[in-house]
Amino acid sequence: MTSTPVNNRSDEASVATSRALFERAAKATPGGVNSPVRAFQAVGGTPRFMVKGQGAYLTDADGNEYVDLVASWGPMILGHAHPAVVEAVQRAASSGLSFGTPTEGEIELAEEIISRVAPVEQVRLVNSGTEATMSAIRLARGFTGRRKVVKFAGCYHGHVDALLAQAGSGVATLGLPTTPGVTGAQAEDTLVLPYNDLDAVRAAFAEHGADIACLITEAAAGNMGAVAPEAGFNAALKELCSANGALLVMDEVMTGFRVSAAGWYGVEGVAGDLYTFGKVMSGGLPAAAFGGRADVMARLAPAGPVYQAGTLSGNPVAVAAGLATLRNATAEVYTALDTNARKLGSLLADALTAEGVAHRVQYAGNLVSVFFTEDPVRDYEGAKAAQTWRFAPFFHELLARGVYPPPSAFEAWFVSAALDERAFERITEALPHAAAAAAAAKENS
Ligand code: PLP
Repeated sequence: MTSTPVNNRSDEASVATSRALFERAAKATPGGVNSPVRAFQAVGGTPRFMVKGQGAYLTDADGNEYVDLVASWGPMILGHAHPAVVEAVQRAASSGLSFGTPTEGEIELAEEIISRVAPVEQVRLVNSGTEATMSAIRLARGFTGRRKVVKFAGCYHGHVDALLAQAGSGVATLGLPTTPGVTGAQAEDTLVLPYNDLDAVRAAFAEHGADIACLITEAAAGNMGAVAPEAGFNAALKELCSANGALLVMDEVMTGFRVSAAGWYGVEGVAGDLYTFGKVMSGGLPAAAFGGRADVMARLAPAGPVYQAGTLSGNPVAVAAGLATLRNATAEVYTALDTNARKLGSLLADALTAEGVAHRVQYAGNLVSVFFTEDPVRDYEGAKAAQTWRFAPFFHELLARGVYPPPSAFEAWFVSAALDERAFERITEALPHAAAAAAAAKENS
């Protein structure tokens, strides 16, 4: 069975509704979007306004259907509109949307997280990954009485002022060194080091050890593309933090409950002191969490003095979506995610090899990305050194053929367990065209 191309970029009419919506959106919202990477600035063209997600497929406002390789930037491991998740959300919503009181579901979600990630003894629910990392940093500073935070270039931890320095994701996509609005005072306590460079971490601790409250790292980097920690890197971070009285904050917002039932911790087994989660644990609704050692979490209000709060934190509908997602994320789902990631990676590599395009397909668990370079990418400098100008034509050929990859060379591709044979057929048919476009691309054109 062959699937026919569902839309065609050269056919202007095929995205006319999205274009009209984008023009209207740009009047009401800066750049027409509510999160920068959605605007397609790095790849050009019209962002697709989606109206429906079902399983592995998205449908836009013009009726074009896409195989979704973004999965809402990670959460949708079960695919879109999974019946059990939809049913749980409907049931929760019919009992009331928000109470501003505790509910049993919040305990269940916290217990589910605790049961999966052994170093996490207590959890606090929040509304976004940004809030989770912001709160974890405040808690680490409150616990240690120290100011400085170590992060890695190319890692993205949300748009927390102190963590935007040399960040990945949209900050990398837009080529921003840092952002106006973050004051020197907010940034001066942040030390930014190259990823996978233990000598740099040792040197930072040697110089500033007594001032370092915590080191925050993506448990496996996904926001400069997929760049896994080298063997022993995370374990050495843990040792250095412990030896210097600093906390290790493992940011598992992207990897958590996606790369295994216990996230990257389940892959590698290195224990952080604090963890941040989001995406999968919210099932696609706004919820996130941070947690970790009970003695550290005990410093959090109202148990302790470090203040943290949220009107909608632990929202019953979001909690229901997260719980239903985690409870339906069976061993088979994780096998499917891993299989689909490897299948996608092989198809990417085959198509680019056939066209003679220098590339590396990299994985961090089942996060996948393609870098247009022959050299292994182990840090942000390596990611930036790739021929990122090949990405836009590559992306648009896929999009035109009904495949929706992330609209940036610096983002990981997210598979779902719902990708079926038809989806892979479409990807297989689209990739040779995309690879040919990448081969024909010219720098600065
Ligand atoms: N941390 C990591 C590793 C992320 O990938 C992200 C978002 O992509 C965040 C934090 C921020 O999460 P949110 O976008 O929910 O604020």
